Amino acid sequence: MKQPRHVPVRTCVMCGTRTAKRDLARVVLTPEGECVVDETGKRPGRGAYLCRRAECWERAASTNRLAHALRGEVRASDKERLAVAGAAFRAAFIGSPAGE
Ligand SMILES: [Zn+2]
Repeated sequence: MKQPRHVPVRTCVMCGTRTAKRDLARVVLTPEGECVVDETGKRPGRGAYLCRRAECWERAASTNRLAHALRGEVRASDKERLAVAGAAFRAAFIGSPAGE
């Protein structure tokens, strides 16, 4: 059996869970000040990672913690969009629970 390849690990800014980067969503604050989920992982701007737990996305949308992590401001409209994007992100993982 081959050794598992090294996988990049990132930390969820909400709960502090460290997990494989591919299991996290990158949220980026663009140079235009827009906070979006970065599906490609390549958008310019300051990024933060969020895991698949519903509460992390709820906290991202209801607190200023994400803005703090991104060292900027997250508009209320962007927070609403994040909540929707988070639900879609988590739905993509149905059948492969995040685990604790
Ligand atoms: Zn989390």
